[in-house]
Amino acid sequence: MSVTQLPKEYNPQEVEPRWMGNWQDSMNYFDWDSKKPQYIIDTPPPYPTGNFHIGNALNWCYIDFVARYKRMRGYNVMFPQGWDCHGLPTEVKVEEIHNITKNQVPRTEFRQLCEELTAGNIEKMRNTMRRLAFSIDWSNEYITMKPEYYGKTQHSFVQMYNKDLIYRSDHPNNWCPRCETAIAFAEVEYEARQTTLNYFHFDKLDVATTRPELLAACVAVAVSPDDDRYNEYVGQEIEVPVFGHKVKVLSDSEVDPNFGTGVVMICTFGDKQDVRWWAELGLPLRKAIDKQGIMTSIAGKYEGMSLGDCKEAITKDMKDAGIIYEQETLDQNVGLCWRCKTPIEILSERQWFVKIDADDIISKSSEINWAPPYMEVRLKNWTSTMEWDWCISRQRIFATPIPVWYCDECGEVMVAKEEWLPLDPNISQPPEACKCGSTSFSPEEDVLDTWMDSSITALNAAGWQSRDDVRMPTQLRPQGHDIIRTWTFYSILRSSALTGLRPWDDIMINGMVLGDDGHKMSKSLGNIVMPEEVVKEYGSDAFRQWAAIGGATGSDIMFRWKDVVAGNRFQQKLWSIVRFCMPHLEGFQPGEAQYRTIDRWLLSKLNTLIKEATASMDAYQFDETLKNIRSFAWDTLADNYIELVKSRLYGDDAEAKRAAQQTLYLTVDALAKMLAPFIPYFADEVFSQLHDHSVHTDAWPGVDESAIDAAAEGSGEQVKEITAAIRRFKSDKGMALNAPLGRLRIYGRIGDVADIAGTVNAEIEVVAGEPEFEYSVIGVKPNMSVIGPKFRDKAGAIIGALKSADAATIAEQAAAGAIFIAAGGETITLEPDSVAFEREILSEGHAVDVLEVGAVMVVVEK
Ligand SMILES: [Zn+2]
Ligand SMILES: [Zn+2]
Repeated sequence: MSVTQLPKEYNPQEVEPRWMGNWQDSMNYFDWDSKKPQYIIDTPPPYPTGNFHIGNALNWCYIDFVARYKRMRGYNVMFPQGWDCHGLPTEVKVEEIHNITKNQVPRTEFRQLCEELTAGNIEKMRNTMRRLAFSIDWSNEYITMKPEYYGKTQHSFVQMYNKDLIYRSDHPNNWCPRCETAIAFAEVEYEARQTTLNYFHFDKLDVATTRPELLAACVAVAVSPDDDRYNEYVGQEIEVPVFGHKVKVLSDSEVDPNFGTGVVMICTFGDKQDVRWWAELGLPLRKAIDKQGIMTSIAGKYEGMSLGDCKEAITKDMKDAGIIYEQETLDQNVGLCWRCKTPIEILSERQWFVKIDADDIISKSSEINWAPPYMEVRLKNWTSTMEWDWCISRQRIFATPIPVWYCDECGEVMVAKEEWLPLDPNISQPPEACKCGSTSFSPEEDVLDTWMDSSITALNAAGWQSRDDVRMPTQLRPQGHDIIRTWTFYSILRSSALTGLRPWDDIMINGMVLGDDGHKMSKSLGNIVMPEEVVKEYGSDAFRQWAAIGGATGSDIMFRWKDVVAGNRFQQKLWSIVRFCMPHLEGFQPGEAQYRTIDRWLLSKLNTLIKEATASMDAYQFDETLKNIRSFAWDTLADNYIELVKSRLYGDDAEAKRAAQQTLYLTVDALAKMLAPFIPYFADEVFSQLHDHSVHTDAWPGVDESAIDAAAEGSGEQVKEITAAIRRFKSDKGMALNAPLGRLRIYGRIGDVADIAGTVNAEIEVVAGEPEFEYSVIGVKPNMSVIGPKFRDKAGAIIGALKSADAATIAEQAAAGAIFIAAGGETITLEPDSVAFEREILSEGHAVDVLEVGAVMVVVEK
């Protein structure tokens, strides 16, 4: 091995860009023809905001740890990168940048502006990903706004439509009046707010409601069948105040007789319960609000008002008229639009829906290995709360077009045939006539929920609709816990609907990144940290160490600069180890070696580390893995092993030196390999000192079971402990650590003392049996806390006398029960506890120091 002098400091700002330039993208390509087992990762496609934030970075670090590890373990890994382009935030941004609204420019032009903005943002994010050393397979990149991808979304739509899993219906659905679009349950956020509960006279009954503005949409009132107060009214018609239309009094067990007056008003629609009653009881539909949240004509004099204005006006009118007779404050959970935080409404409009089979989703989920396992309950809970099917149509522009037209003559729905895809019905016409013979069609202008794109990412990565050999299921879905109810849920649903299979073998959940103050990162708290800032300061590898060690997989983790600093310090330490080792490996060729105790000790610990690291990597426990590697490198290797073999490395015994060289070589080699998934730049910089290929094309270290040896570890521990005790002794005596120590005798069972002798610079004799000691008293130490209080002003004289007295005589007197001492002209009697003695140990006639180390005694001649 030929060796170059390494710089004293490890400089990530020099090393990292250099390796980034050396690595080839093709090192990370998935090989469709490989015989190796496949490992396809269903990577999250981020929303291309142009800003790859720290939460993304944590997620991608986890993915990269797995991808690099699996490659080294012999898998054919696909780590694709997707971009989930469609959606409202980009539309809003484009409107802002160009100072337009989406309706002021033609549809295709608006879409074009969205695509341009998105393409630029993707490029910015790609650069950050490269700098963070994510080993992405760029040959499998996908961009959902491109026809190659959204064509697949359209195929999935058509196939599910043909399987009766997609239908169009006038079912009530969540609606954001500000964004003017339908939204799914997953897009509704709940917030605790206070509202007013209004008690008012409703014909013969009294009703309590929080939403008087929906009175025009009242279609019934309901009471509990167990409520004797109202039995006689059930089945009667009563008149709605203010508006005058008649509604029936119904009884239903869902009514809570203890809430309000026990009489509830059913409107189309105040909440999900109204939807249930409306459907179950076959009630009529009265639309009081339109898609913009404006009161319709059935609201009479309130027509044209916004919901808020109407609420205020009608409440005032009803109070003035004496209809409202009481008001109280009520806490409630309000559903808000995830995007703009506007309270959602429930509107019945014609929408497209995907059927939800909750049992199937739960059963497929149980086939998937969840890491950590407790996260699965979130999916189960969510799945069981679903009130109605998944609404997939959106009244927007920048999204996958729904491949459907309507016949202008007979109204027939014309769903595209798969061979026509991809297409935009707003641009192209169906190549066939309608059944009625007409060739005049109107396009479906609604577009698809972006989750329709992103819920087939696993299928896309596996080659669905692009290859004959579809590789389902994929192996891993990594994602945040915040999108279990969306991305996980929809992906399982779609994979099952389209292939009958689970989408992945494993799902690995990452937590959220919190600021160093423990709060969610936000602009207003000023605690946002960008990955680029960290990289600029300490490099990418130190950042990646924070991601690995900051917390367990699945838990939320704080961003702490000190974790990055610790990562950087670890690199410096390991670098200094490598820098020390390399000159000693000059001319060394790996092969056989005659190991000594301490070599076998290190190799046993190294192989145990490899075994544990392999198990913890398989279980996605990155913090565990890196902590173990760090403590091995820092404590076991640097602080102990290297100190113990220095004398051999610098010595003349070629065989002894070779064993140390071989041990160091194997250890540095294995450490570089085990660190490769975590700190890829550093690992390659170290590995390249030993080899002429990249560590990332090499294998994960195998465990040499024969090297794992409890007895060798025990003997090595003993050598380590004895050496440490002698070194402590030297340091206590103020001796230099390499100062010669003369002759040592070690009593006890110990095999190999050569490394101890070399390290402490002493001759060592190992003696069987127990040493025999004699003790001689060589000094008296007066005990001030006894003498002082008892003798006060005489104490000084007593102490002086004790010090000058013959120590052996005082000791004899103390043993007999009383000490007699002449001080200040009188003889004073002291209790034995007034003094302590300094003793010297004699062994074989020499004064010695004795160090006890476990069952072994080390005797140092003075
Ligand atoms: Zn909204
Ligand atoms: Zn027709």
